[in-house]
Amino acid sequence: MSEPVADIALIGLAVMGQNIILNMNDHGFVVCAFNRTVEKVDRFLENEAKGTKIVGAHSVKEMVDKLKKPRRVMMLVKAGKAVDAFIEQLIPHLEAGSIIIDGGNSEYVDSIRRCKELEAKKLLFVGSGVSGGEDGARYGASLMPGGSPDAWPHVKNIFQSIAAKVGKEPCCDWVGENGAGHYVKMVHNGIEYGDMQLICETYHIMKLVLGMNNDEISEVFAEWNKGELDSFLIEITRDIMKFRDTDNVHLLDKIRDAAGQKGTGKWTAISALEFGMPLTLIGESVFARCLSSLKDERVIASKQLSGPTPSFTGDRKQFLEDLKQALYASKIISYAQGFMLMREAAKQFNWNLNYGGIALMWRGGCIIRSVFLGKIQEAFDKNPHLTNLLLDDFFKNAIQNAQAGWRKVVATAVTNGVPTPCLSTALSFFDGYRMEKVPANLIQAQRDYFGAHTYELLSDPGKFHHTNWTGH
Ligand code: NAP
Repeated sequence: MSEPVADIALIGLAVMGQNIILNMNDHGFVVCAFNRTVEKVDRFLENEAKGTKIVGAHSVKEMVDKLKKPRRVMMLVKAGKAVDAFIEQLIPHLEAGSIIIDGGNSEYVDSIRRCKELEAKKLLFVGSGVSGGEDGARYGASLMPGGSPDAWPHVKNIFQSIAAKVGKEPCCDWVGENGAGHYVKMVHNGIEYGDMQLICETYHIMKLVLGMNNDEISEVFAEWNKGELDSFLIEITRDIMKFRDTDNVHLLDKIRDAAGQKGTGKWTAISALEFGMPLTLIGESVFARCLSSLKDERVIASKQLSGPTPSFTGDRKQFLEDLKQALYASKIISYAQGFMLMREAAKQFNWNLNYGGIALMWRGGCIIRSVFLGKIQEAFDKNPHLTNLLLDDFFKNAIQNAQAGWRKVVATAVTNGVPTPCLSTALSFFDGYRMEKVPANLIQAQRDYFGAHTYELLSDPGKFHHTNWTGH
């Protein structure tokens, strides 16, 4: 039998797994590497892992035997069947208290199920969101672990060591029970969809309404990146805008305008519909990608359907400031909606989510990292029971200051025929959320008229009435 030398085992030697192993090794942990196709273990040990303390195994048993107790096994394999297949193989070799960690992009419902099944066998489960791609995995990721709370003290040190840091604070903390880690990662990805679409809409307005070229737009993003919008996505957009291909033509202009998606934005929107939460901005961002992918149909339609020719006559400098405010305000709405969804999911699944901690986890290492998340963290740290981000003083003021410019931008986009699904839906949400009375009284009357669905009276809440609207 092999000596138990390793602190943790890692299954899955594709890009994420290899980089996480190297990151763990850098932080002094001994990792045992394993992979379904075992030849990859030797290849990894002889190349990327050469000269490190990393060890390898050629079977699940050999891997488990090399682990110190409590045994910790992390998987970074393709989400879905591969995770269940490895769990099945691991169970006979593990004793009570051993910890199985899934760091892949698993669906949270699978993590809820796996956690329950493993706990019934006295094993502990961690389902962790990992964001930041290859680079994050190697040098500091945003990690969102959830699962069996008893597992956390045993993985905390490793996880927080390999996480990205903001100052000295690791972008990793315990998220909550069973599927909470993967749920929060899913919402993170949904928010990423929203942030990206918002940036695209401002680019589109600068291009079509103001007639700016890519280099000029790049300068605007560079400027925006110095203030409250300072973020990874604005920074890369600045660079993408000015990037020239080998023929000196902007590469961006050659890229087909049909967006791909892997599904996490869609899952977030589906979850919002299931829980009845108005996650309008992420929903619109998913639909915007769907519309973009109907490229061939749009090409035909563009020859038959016409709209206004964009033009601009006002103060361009002021309009760019308004655009920045519109983006900022819409981003606040998107995050407010994302946190509303997490709060509702926490209620449904009995999770004790730490919202300030979640903002900190997203503050560095991941795609949506930004200065702005620091403000969200402050808001929830100040009041962990805050019902909505929009009711925090900082964000209340920010929206108040942005409001006039935001309205001008949406109105200008509408009159010029430039689509702004996310900027517009954010404003509609804001106007709906801040209204004491919305026209749902009429919906209730209509429902009662055609279907006797009844209605409540403002003067008599909790009691349901029906009216014979036609007198027949
Ligand atoms: P990947 O391409 O998603 O998966 C490849 C790994 O999964 C290989 O080790 C492969 O083993 C194993 N695998 C695939 N099907 C299997 C099966 N049926 N049974 C057993 N093993 C199987 O790798 P990745 O890009 O490194 O991602 C790993 C996980 O992290 C995924 O869940 C991914 O969604 C998530 N993630 C990825 C990123 C990213 O930027 N790439 C970022 C965050 C999270 P073989 O070598 O034997 O084929």
